[in-house]
Amino acid sequence: MKTALVCGAGGFIGSHLVTQLKKEGYWVRGVDLKHPDFSKTNADEFIVGDLTNYQFTSTVVRTGDSLKTPMQYQEPFDEIYQLAADMGGAGYIFTGEHDADVMQNSASINLNTLKAVQEMNEFVSKDWYHTSRTVPYTPIKTKIFYSSSACMYPEHNQLDPDNPNCAEDSAYPANPDSEYGWEKLFSERLYLAYNRNYDIPVRIARFHNIFGPDGTWKGGREKAPAALCRKFAEAVPNGSIEVWGDGKQTRSFLYIHECIKGIRKLMDSDFQGPVNIGSDEMVSINDMIGMLTEIAGKKLTVNYKLDAPTGVRGRNSDNKLIQEKLGWSPNFSLKEGLQLTYRWILNQQVKLDSYEEK
Ligand code: NAD
Repeated sequence: MKTALVCGAGGFIGSHLVTQLKKEGYWVRGVDLKHPDFSKTNADEFIVGDLTNYQFTSTVVRTGDSLKTPMQYQEPFDEIYQLAADMGGAGYIFTGEHDADVMQNSASINLNTLKAVQEMNEFVSKDWYHTSRTVPYTPIKTKIFYSSSACMYPEHNQLDPDNPNCAEDSAYPANPDSEYGWEKLFSERLYLAYNRNYDIPVRIARFHNIFGPDGTWKGGREKAPAALCRKFAEAVPNGSIEVWGDGKQTRSFLYIHECIKGIRKLMDSDFQGPVNIGSDEMVSINDMIGMLTEIAGKKLTVNYKLDAPTGVRGRNSDNKLIQEKLGWSPNFSLKEGLQLTYRWILNQQVKLDSYEEK
């Protein structure tokens, strides 16, 4: 049976990924600061802990209970999916208020994960490891997936909302518009450096706005699709909603199930990346409001908050490389994804309202 460690398994993408890996028959350990917010984890084992702590990270990258399993029987995982990060939507990463924490926490997680895997590899190559086992064993080289972001692309290529350039090879000269993006770029390079110097197999994806059920939908870390679905769900018919920016900024949004498909396809391929995992159905925020008007059946007045943080003017996933290397690119429509997400957020609200009434 294949084994996988999912870092960030209590988060949105991580919890969906755990479910998929279990469906495929993996034994899965999830690690996070917290359990998933909206569903029970499907992981075989879930460890709550802080990956910015090296001691903790170095014990979770090996299978077996570090206190009960003898060292020579703690083995490398077949695969590690590193999704843990200090992150959120525009209200969290573009205000500048969380820059130091975002950079410190996310970089530490990536530094620790790679160092711990490198030390694990050194440990399993020692004679002692082999001679103290009762049965001969050939150690596996753990393959690591790293979740980078489209936020690492340079701002100067994303000024025109109708013609953004997010081809993978447009990353340099670098100029991300947020510290979150700079950390992602640094960590991409870190994974590639460990691959070159320590022969650790890596796979790197640049996600473009992933959305869907079980994602953060309130509290300040939510992203545009969830925030807009919530605002529509809360609004009274003929009421109004506030929208950040002028609504003309463009983006593409990828439904969670397509993201999970992309992660698994990349992991199973020989292609290291970095590669975009995103939809190329580019829309403006106003287009998305139009879709939600139909889905929710509510015609609302839009109040634009022009001084709110919005990020770059335009962004779209360029899917040529993923199509060429994996023979696949996502094609689930935004409207279908929004329908499913809107329905889920509506249900969350009903649950919340009935809980608050009790
Ligand atoms: P999320 O915030 O739902 O999940 C991240 C998880 O990491 C959280 O559950 C959090 O508790 C955990 N975490 C943070 N610090 C930790 C620590 N010190 N130790 C252990 N766990 C810690 O985010 P997500 O949307 O699931 O994103 C997953 C990954 O994909 C992140 O690396 C994110 O930067 C990247 N990404 C996401 C999107 C998107 O649209 N969702 C876009 C681009 C990139």
